[in-house]
Amino acid sequence: MTAIRLDGVTKRYGSVTAVNDLSLDVREGEVFGFLGPNGAGKSTTINLILDFIRPSEGTVTVLGRDAQKESVAVRERTGVLPEGFSVYDRLTGRQHLEFAIESKETEDDPDELLDRVGLSPEDGDRKAGGYSKGMAQRLAFAMALVGEPDLLILDEPSTGLDPNGAREMREIVRAEKERGATIFFSSHILGQVEAVCDRVGILHEGELVAEDSIEGLRQNVGGDTAITVET
Ligand code: ATP
Repeated sequence: MTAIRLDGVTKRYGSVTAVNDLSLDVREGEVFGFLGPNGAGKSTTINLILDFIRPSEGTVTVLGRDAQKESVAVRERTGVLPEGFSVYDRLTGRQHLEFAIESKETEDDPDELLDRVGLSPEDGDRKAGGYSKGMAQRLAFAMALVGEPDLLILDEPSTGLDPNGAREMREIVRAEKERGATIFFSSHILGQVEAVCDRVGILHEGELVAEDSIEGLRQNVGGDTAITVET
């Protein structure tokens, strides 16, 4: 089955076309790297998938459901790590998770979630204001895991992390893929996703310019050095 299908999706803001005639298939169980420089339309695409905004044209199907008509059902099965997530300084890690669990009305165990992202129960007892950037991102990931989502949407999860933190993110992604989740991993840096993705899509000025495996991409563009999405 297809986890995410965009069919001829365009999103316009007045005279600005943020996403232009975008068609995309993310397969169930894969890690899909969604690449493009800042302003390419990645966040717009994610907002369309989650029905936070509506397309000007085209259709979006998520987990076999119409993203607009069945957005509640889609969101129930989807975990999101938003871009630029910031913690509540005065709440502990565990309190963040308890809040997420209550909001989603699930029975998750906060300690199990902490463990899945490499945080200890003691980390969970600490106020998140004292966390490093990497720990805060791991906590954000744990919040996205509440409710055992079938689909995980990670919007620039490695931005601002040091190489160690970025590697830890990839390890969590791998573990969640093993669990059977589909992962949509947005980034503006190819190096952050290539080691973990089954396929990537490259967005440029709102248009999909490539959709392939890393290997296929290398062959199509004729060599390793040609793939750069850095900004
Ligand atoms: P970033 O990583 O910086 O968030 P992005 O790839 O996610 O970049 P988008 O935020 O989706 O890019 O923006 C795509 C284009 O659409 C940009 O030109 C942006 O200025 C424009 N845009 C996005 N949202 C709006 C809005 N609400 N009103 C007007 N223009 C918008």
